[in-house]
Amino acid sequence: MPLRKVQRKRFIVDTMLGDLAKWLRILGYDTLYSRNYTDSQIVRIASKSRRIIITMDRGLCIMANKKGVPCISIESYDIRERLAEISVKANIPLVADPSRSRCPVCNGVLKPVYDKSVVKDRVPPKALESHKVFYVCTRCGQVYWEGSHWKNIKRVLEEARNIAELIIEKKLKR
Ligand SMILES: [Zn+2]
Repeated sequence: MPLRKVQRKRFIVDTMLGDLAKWLRILGYDTLYSRNYTDSQIVRIASKSRRIIITMDRGLCIMANKKGVPCISIESYDIRERLAEISVKANIPLVADPSRSRCPVCNGVLKPVYDKSVVKDRVPPKALESHKVFYVCTRCGQVYWEGSHWKNIKRVLEEARNIAELIIEKKLKR
């Protein structure tokens, strides 16, 4: 049997879950999101590009399942709880590594840049001085670095992991 490359899960997120889409991109998952998608469009795109649908709309999940498209329904409103839910339901680890992240704005692939002259016009001088590596979106050109916001990202993910553990414990007790 030919060896198959392990494909990372890919997602398409419904119009109500834009915050979750950004987080999935930070976690490194190819995630489509648009405010303009209709339900049937989401199902069509998911089917064509083999994506898992994430939604708060049970009706959309029923429609997707009828067409054989995998769908995860999210019930929480808090981002930590949402991340915990998706982690348990899609079996994805809540660990962020900036070298694997995607652009939270446009889903583009990030490219590490070590040459500061390349990004100097797009990064504040202080950040330029204190970081060795920057990540540039290959699609929209946005520049990222592991600044103070990255600490915040790690904290939110840690809290979400704790919630995920509680969900798993509860399931085991049942
Ligand atoms: Zn981008």
